[in-house]
Amino acid sequence: MIIRPKTIKHRRKISAIEKDGEVVKFTALGGLEEVGRNMSIFEYKNEIVIFDAGLQFPEEDTPGIDYIIPNVDYLASKKENIKGLIVTHAHYDHIGAIPYIMEKIGNPTIYTTALAKEIIKKRQDEFTNAPKIDFEIIKNRDVVKISDNFELTFFGVLHNIPDTVSILIKTPVGNFVYSTDVKFDYDAKGNTMGLDEFAWAGKQNIHTLFLESTGAEKPGLSPSELLVIKNIEDIFKKTKGRLIIGTFSSMLTRLDEIIKVAEKYDRKVFISGFSMKTNLQICQNLGYIKIKKGTMASLDEIHKYKDDKILVLSTGAQGEPNASLMKIVNGEHRQIQIKAGDTVVFSSSVIAGNERAVQVLKDNLTRQGAKVYHSNIVDLHASGHATGDELKQIIQLVKPNFYFPIHGQYFMRAINTELAYEVGLPKGHSLMADNGQVVKFKKNEAQITEETVPAYYVMVDGLGVGDVGEIVMRDRRVLAQEGMVVVIATLDRKTGRFLKNPDIISRGFIYLRENKELVEDLRKKIRSIVSRIPRYQSIEPDYLKSLMRDQIGQFLYNKTKRRPMILPVVVQV
Ligand SMILES: [Zn+2]
Repeated sequence: MIIRPKTIKHRRKISAIEKDGEVVKFTALGGLEEVGRNMSIFEYKNEIVIFDAGLQFPEEDTPGIDYIIPNVDYLASKKENIKGLIVTHAHYDHIGAIPYIMEKIGNPTIYTTALAKEIIKKRQDEFTNAPKIDFEIIKNRDVVKISDNFELTFFGVLHNIPDTVSILIKTPVGNFVYSTDVKFDYDAKGNTMGLDEFAWAGKQNIHTLFLESTGAEKPGLSPSELLVIKNIEDIFKKTKGRLIIGTFSSMLTRLDEIIKVAEKYDRKVFISGFSMKTNLQICQNLGYIKIKKGTMASLDEIHKYKDDKILVLSTGAQGEPNASLMKIVNGEHRQIQIKAGDTVVFSSSVIAGNERAVQVLKDNLTRQGAKVYHSNIVDLHASGHATGDELKQIIQLVKPNFYFPIHGQYFMRAINTELAYEVGLPKGHSLMADNGQVVKFKKNEAQITEETVPAYYVMVDGLGVGDVGEIVMRDRRVLAQEGMVVVIATLDRKTGRFLKNPDIISRGFIYLRENKELVEDLRKKIRSIVSRIPRYQSIEPDYLKSLMRDQIGQFLYNKTKRRPMILPVVVQV
């Protein structure tokens, strides 16, 4: 089921495009009005190429939802045209929707790098009914003619997970660069690393550059990984007791660096968190991460080591309820309990919405005697995304005729647009389309059209997809904010009169025992509703329920100015 996100429609005509002729169509099914849920499609006649299929983590107004994924109804209706799904890298906001959508879109071949393939495959194992995926592994500078009219050249870019690619797309109307997440890094002399590929792409006469907006707001340059490592080393140097570092299981570059520092300072590495363990294993198998023999040890043996020989790498630095760090702090972890002298380091920036959970986590760790560090104390987390000033460098190198800021909230993309104008993009050449809006490209032209395809939220709740609709969401919101009142009316089937006093149960609304007067008034109200029905007339339970829902709702609102959910139950005996 679907909920339409609140959007402001912005349509700017770039230049009129005639009706006929060669047209490449582009539509984002997600990622233009949020951070996450990235998925885009390019279309030419009856050929469709898809880029990424990510998920978005839930928002505060979608309680109980695990993930939000893109709507693929449009693709499902044209699945015979799909030539392949390109995956740029293995982060969940780029791969997370795959198990939920593949069957629906006809299980197309996935073109991706070795690491992303393994991580996608591993995750697919959790979904026993999911179809087997056909992969094509791509490497840096591979050229893939994926269909008659699309030729893709993959080129490697830096990010905080190995094996991340951007794509040069050759089409009948021109060449495009599709670049998702990319980070900047600097060597010891301060030279920028990894820009050659963009310089190469810039020589291909680029029609439109698609570039992420996640870090667009940030000024200046990213801290280098060397600086981050130095800060991590400083913590190793001054820590005498056990060291516990919390980070994302997908921050594989960071994990690699931390493990190397641990080797240098002679600490054994214990991994706490299933996803972190499997991801590291995959990276090791592929040779992306090299760990010395004897560095890693099993958590079951942790008691055998002295405190100053222990490094625990743990998931849960965002305060996620089921992650390892949360179990540790709540005393539910089998092998690790916090004790005085422990040092806990958060090596990841807090995702919006998680601030409160992280603060509580830090409080609890501190109360139990741990010393807590975070990136606002030392710069432990170099973002995986280029800053505004760095994005400008990419735009200058690629020199596109049109610019399409992707990946981010609308305001982030607007800032990204300004960056492009600052470095010479012709005015009016930024394409600020919304999710689902079709953008048409012709030779030297681009136009945001009025045409749309469905791009609403699809929610995943447990393992069910799309079975949580707007009504369920509304109910959950009411329950969370206003509580609920259950009213049970037990009536005599023959007379239609009460056999016993109405039962009233409430949760999260008011404490009934301390509000006896209100409860009595409520009972009277319920009796009066029923008594208005003529005696010996058979009672239609649905009608009575809706009557109770409306009138009791109004009654409680008048008394309390709150609107709990009313659940009437009518029992006739
Ligand atoms: Zn990423």
